[in-house]
Amino acid sequence: QLYNQVQDLKGTIRVYCRVRPFLRGQSNGQSTVDYIGENGNIMIANPLKNGKEARKVFSFNKVFGTNVTQDQIYADTQPLVRSVLDGYNVCIFAYGQTGSGKTYTMSGPDLTSEQTWGVNYRALRDLFQISKTRGDVIKYEVGVQMVEIYNEQVRDLLLNGLNVPDASWIPVSSTQDVLDLMKIGQRNRAVGATALNERSSRSHSVLTVHVYGKELVSGSILKGCLHLVDLAGSERVDKSEAVGERLKEAQHINRSLSALGDVISALAQKSPHVPYRNSKLTQILQDSLGGHAKTLMFVHINPELNSIGETISTLKFAERVS
Ligand code: ADP
Ligand code: MG
Repeated sequence: QLYNQVQDLKGTIRVYCRVRPFLRGQSNGQSTVDYIGENGNIMIANPLKNGKEARKVFSFNKVFGTNVTQDQIYADTQPLVRSVLDGYNVCIFAYGQTGSGKTYTMSGPDLTSEQTWGVNYRALRDLFQISKTRGDVIKYEVGVQMVEIYNEQVRDLLLNGLNVPDASWIPVSSTQDVLDLMKIGQRNRAVGATALNERSSRSHSVLTVHVYGKELVSGSILKGCLHLVDLAGSERVDKSEAVGERLKEAQHINRSLSALGDVISALAQKSPHVPYRNSKLTQILQDSLGGHAKTLMFVHINPELNSIGETISTLKFAERVS
């Protein structure tokens, strides 16, 4: 059974919006999310100084409200993940300002609890399970690599090499193997960073899963690839305040996120020219963006009033790429 239902999805670029709940200890103030429709619409309410509200509706393939579980999120991601075993290339991105829930969606808050596992671990568990059930027909090999892109420099997080152009990929055969590697990756990511959170919000992290399948009878080969990308925080840094390293980081992030937006929107519009060369991120993902590849972007927002500016610019970015 092939997971071709993915081809039936309209277009190859999908955008899902996820709203994180108010966090404990935060004032459960008024949410800027006014309304979430069944059909992928979300209405944002922006209170104005004169006491009125400006409302605006944004439309995506799906919108997930604050009570949606990791399980439900994965249910809508699974067909894409599974198509990798049929030889598709897939990119899944998490976009949003720092603190909006990108890492929660991709990794989850706590690796020790399977219930809250994010897309990354669920995807790998799924790939292992299905490749096992197909074992009589196709022999699969799975490998992972993990890199970080910081100030346009690519760093291999599994071998901890600096500026490795072709990061190593390491064979894995169980979810436990992956969990062990992720721990190494996270540890290496912290090296040289003053504070882990600081660094992780200013760099893109890319977990890549390579799948190589050999059909036992015909001997034919298929290759698929899944990129799971936790992007740097999309918040704009006040140019009058940021100086030195901070300013440099902010400029690199801005440039690479807009380069990503340009690539995806060129693909969405079927433009003949796709500007892959403008950032490291789009360069390393080039083979998996466009062509027969499938793209899913999770855009994250939080419901807090003081984030309204970033929320609107996040949703505008997302509408441009969908
Ligand atoms: P980001 O990676 O975008 O900076 P995080 O994923 O670290 O944001 O989320 C920020 C905080 O909000 C964390 O404490 C996280 O556990 C919490 N959080 C994010 N999304 C959710 C959610 N859907 N449900 C509950 N808590 C969430
Ligand atoms: Mg994060």
